[in-house]
Amino acid sequence: MMTLGILGGGQLARMLCLDARRMGVKTIVWSGTPTAEPVLGVADEVILKGFDDERALEEFCWKVDFATVEFENIPLETLRSVEDGVGLFPSAESIGVSQHRSREKRFLKEHGIPCAPFALVNSLEELKDAYEAVGPVGVLKTAAFGYDGKGQVKICSADELESAWASVEEQPSVLEGFVDFECEVSVLVARGRDGVCVTFPVGENEHRHHILDLTIVPARVPAETRKEAEEVAVRLAEELNYRGLLAVEFFVEKSGRVLVNEIAPRPHNSGHYSMNGCVTSQFEQQLRAVCGLPLGSTELLGDSVMLNLLGDMWTPDLNIGAIVETEGAKLHLYGKTATEGRRKLGHVNFVGGKNVLSRAIDLKETLLQQSGD
Ligand code: AMP
Repeated sequence: MMTLGILGGGQLARMLCLDARRMGVKTIVWSGTPTAEPVLGVADEVILKGFDDERALEEFCWKVDFATVEFENIPLETLRSVEDGVGLFPSAESIGVSQHRSREKRFLKEHGIPCAPFALVNSLEELKDAYEAVGPVGVLKTAAFGYDGKGQVKICSADELESAWASVEEQPSVLEGFVDFECEVSVLVARGRDGVCVTFPVGENEHRHHILDLTIVPARVPAETRKEAEEVAVRLAEELNYRGLLAVEFFVEKSGRVLVNEIAPRPHNSGHYSMNGCVTSQFEQQLRAVCGLPLGSTELLGDSVMLNLLGDMWTPDLNIGAIVETEGAKLHLYGKTATEGRRKLGHVNFVGGKNVLSRAIDLKETLLQQSGD
């Protein structure tokens, strides 16, 4: 029996463990945190220790055959030690590219991958120069540890530069030109140990308060736009010499052209639809790619929609009833007990049949009403 090590103990690790268990692969999660509710009772073993704990590193490497990650913000030193010890898929180098926006942007530029105009910023003076180059409307983003719109501020005039610089706490940042996009889409691509690439159908992503709300598949964009997004995702996986599952988020311009917004070296929230919508889920595909197994079919079983369940729309006693009463709704919960704010608590998938999108939107309205939002 193979034993897969997973760095990180959130919902992405949970769903990977569930598919691993179904396929007879043992999982050991090193959470990096003192708690990891989503994987308790789901992973075969959980190491609840920080990523700087030497003994945890030794234990992890001793117990697993090889490892992968469920999130990118793990110290590079830990990633390299795991890579040297047992093998890490994707590599520490690939993960490193997506840890910092500045590295990611430089990589995109060097490899001629289309993205929004940007400039790296380390001081207020540099921000002023960057704004001259990239403005008149820009988005300032901290280079490290940003997600779901955190550490971001929109700048619409030169008067806002000082306050924007203060709001990113004078941290190294990237100023991006604001993209007046038609919509946002994403592509998951798996690249096996043999270098074979398989993409998932392109999803269209709608956000609420900067957090993913709905993914609609196939994306409602021209076929050429979908093809271009898939080709860019494959090119990125090849340029990174990637092994594992890679998520690529895009802006679609009014012209239909795609620009890469962000990449993530792991399964992605916008790929959760595949758990019910595709022959192979993104988690099974990650498992196959990482374990050196042949990649599975990503054929779409029917038009699909994924609705995220966030803390602000969650009153379990009321909501679970509404979900299970909704035709075709497939509920996935992450086992979190703290539900405050807009934490991601689960999602609901709809596949095929009539009006998948309107059923998802009606359910969302009901949940929001029940939770008094
Ligand atoms: P990010 O965390 O970089 O993915 O940004 C979160 C969301 O903010 C994106 O999904 C977009 O909706 C919006 N956004 C980020 N960067 C830009 C940009 N350069 N132009 C327009 N919208 C943006």
